Amino acid sequence: MKVTEHIRQSAEQTQFSFEILPPLKGQNIQTIFDNIDPLMEFNPPFIDVTYHREEYEYKELPGGLLEKRVVRKRPGTVGICAAIQNKYKVDAIPHVLCGGFTKEDTENFLIDMGFLGIDNVVALRGDAVKSETYFKPEPKGNAYALDLVHQISDMNKGVYLDEDIQNKAQTDFCIGVAAYPEKHMEAPNMESDIHFLKKKIEAGADYVVTQMFFDNSKYFAFVDSCRAAGIEVPIIPGLKPLATQKQLNMIPHRFHVDLPEALIKEVLKAKTREAVREAGIEWCIAQSKELIDAGVPFLHYYSMGKSDNIHKVASTVF
Ligand code: FAD
Repeated sequence: MKVTEHIRQSAEQTQFSFEILPPLKGQNIQTIFDNIDPLMEFNPPFIDVTYHREEYEYKELPGGLLEKRVVRKRPGTVGICAAIQNKYKVDAIPHVLCGGFTKEDTENFLIDMGFLGIDNVVALRGDAVKSETYFKPEPKGNAYALDLVHQISDMNKGVYLDEDIQNKAQTDFCIGVAAYPEKHMEAPNMESDIHFLKKKIEAGADYVVTQMFFDNSKYFAFVDSCRAAGIEVPIIPGLKPLATQKQLNMIPHRFHVDLPEALIKEVLKAKTREAVREAGIEWCIAQSKELIDAGVPFLHYYSMGKSDNIHKVASTVF
């Protein structure tokens, strides 16, 4: 079922959902199930599965030469989506990237998703590969999430890349897109970022999922700015319980979000790793409760491979 249908059917009650990462190459799918199993008691109508593009690694050869290797460390998005739908009978939502895909690859990926009975996809640009500073699209690939949304919307109308294809079946994907309550790192300002978010909606995106944030006032201000700009689709907040002291630096660096002073103080005060996790959980519970009171349709949690702290948050708020 589509995310927008889940929202319509929820009788205005906030629902629980979460995102998982495919395991590192070599690990078993059981590692994923072990993370999902405890969270199923909160009845998530859907589970997102991230997509991880290739990375470049350089191996030093005898004589000092470097060999460039292309590796994908977390393959398996499609297989995991199929396994989730099969095992748990809930919607699995694959993330689809521009990066690393030609438009032809994207078309074939979406055909697979349609055949698997997947009703929703999240359309993203993806980041630059780790060894490069700026994002580069593939030759004949989509450059922005906006272009990808156009391609998916076209397929929903039965428009394929090759005009000569016979019997053009229309896909019927509900399309999610990303947004950033603290601005995407490359956007010159919030106004420009919201301008392009609106273009994604006009191109056919049905709902928005936000980057993680730790200060609800940033989410509320962002939603207000989106509504003022004429964006009317649901804006699902993304949350992550902070889990380690290291994340005080890692999260702002990697996700370009600020951590509130009060949260930093709580984490620095904590004497043990367990106490740090507890501080992160308590903060996330408070955020979740306030967002539920504000009537958000979903609380979408980023598991980043570990579900025990999300379980603790959800046990208190759902
Ligand atoms: P876009 O919407 O294309 O925006 C990128 C930047 O370009 C923004 O600054 C925007 O303002 C600007 N812009 C947009 N359109 C135009 C235009 N037409 N002309 C000029 N400028 C424009 N990454 C992964 O690799 N795998 C995942 O599974 C994944 N899942 C994610 C899920 C969520 C909810 C979020 C928030 C992010 C996720 N990401 C994932 C990270 C994401 O790929 C990066 O944040 C990426 O840098 C931007 O993706 P986007 O879809 O927001 O890009």
